[in-house]
Amino acid sequence: MRIFAIGRNYVEHIQELNNERPDEPVIFTKPDTALLKNNAPFYHPDFSTDVHHEVELVLRICKEGKNIDETFAHKYYDSIGIGIDFTARDLQEKAKKKGLPWDIAKGFNDSAPISNTFIPVTEFKDIKNINFKLEVDGDVKQQGNTSLMLFSFDYIISYLSKFFTLKTGDLIFTGTPKGVAPVKVGNKLSAWIEDKKLLEFEVK
Ligand code: MG
Repeated sequence: MRIFAIGRNYVEHIQELNNERPDEPVIFTKPDTALLKNNAPFYHPDFSTDVHHEVELVLRICKEGKNIDETFAHKYYDSIGIGIDFTARDLQEKAKKKGLPWDIAKGFNDSAPISNTFIPVTEFKDIKNINFKLEVDGDVKQQGNTSLMLFSFDYIISYLSKFFTLKTGDLIFTGTPKGVAPVKVGNKLSAWIEDKKLLEFEVK
């Protein structure tokens, strides 16, 4: 399986990092060694002093496809989970300044904690109106709603599939809302879709 991720999909997050608003989705990938499951602790790496949390909804691909028309894109994902796109912001800033790839800043080991539970798409009344949030030590730090995405789930699927054949089990991180900030050893993170806490782990 692969992990695809979308950058700059929420306007207020683009603004907080002074980034340019993209006219097409910004795509990057993480290796499968980035996955962190079962609410396992995240061990803060020593190569960064500025690892940011980015809470994101995650789509699970349920059918192989390429060049998928946006009209049919909804048939290619069947469930939605939640994850953190941990980002070594200091390494990323360094790479961005030089126009170099972000791989080590985004794809390092355990940089993608995800929920064990993925909620079937059929359980949502309206996937264009899903609330999600991140709490750090019980305080809400990030809050998002899918109505605020620049690029919809269906557009993302269609766009990605022009370049990459999507396969069953692939995951797509769909972008983070504003409020990204560094994590510290001892922080307890919990991520929610609506009123369901689906992911909870500690930074060690
Ligand atoms: Mg992200």
